[in-house]
Amino acid sequence: MQRLIDRNHCSALVVTCSDFRFKSAERAFVEAARLADDYDLLARPGSVRSLVQPRSPASRDSMLDEIRMLWSVHQFSRVLLVNHVSCRAYDDIATPDNELALHADHLRRAVSAVEGLFNGVNADPYVIDYAAGDFVVTKIAASEGA
Ligand SMILES: [Zn+2]
Repeated sequence: MQRLIDRNHCSALVVTCSDFRFKSAERAFVEAARLADDYDLLARPGSVRSLVQPRSPASRDSMLDEIRMLWSVHQFSRVLLVNHVSCRAYDDIATPDNELALHADHLRRAVSAVEGLFNGVNADPYVIDYAAGDFVVTKIAASEGA
């Protein structure tokens, strides 16, 4: 295996929230996906929120810039988009009743936004839920009701 520092390609970009509470769960998820030492990480408050319902136009522009820049240097072919429940960056728009549906909607829209940036890049949406005292990562279905 080529030395890590000499590599100029990785398999994936992982987009997560910045929130400290989810780092261990996210790391376990990424390692279970066999992406250890093989992904770029973009961690921002609200994860994909800035792509689809940004708090400011600047947050969307800078996130797109960062995704394009990382792709230009590492040419990943997969993007894993990971939102989570109890996200404080969603305090103004999420309620306990709508939060899972809202994250699913944002993640689906983010898949389209990201896949539209590059040819041959495949994006997959995930949400981290909290159930029975543990974090559970679930893949979001491609369309509502699917
Ligand atoms: Zn969050």
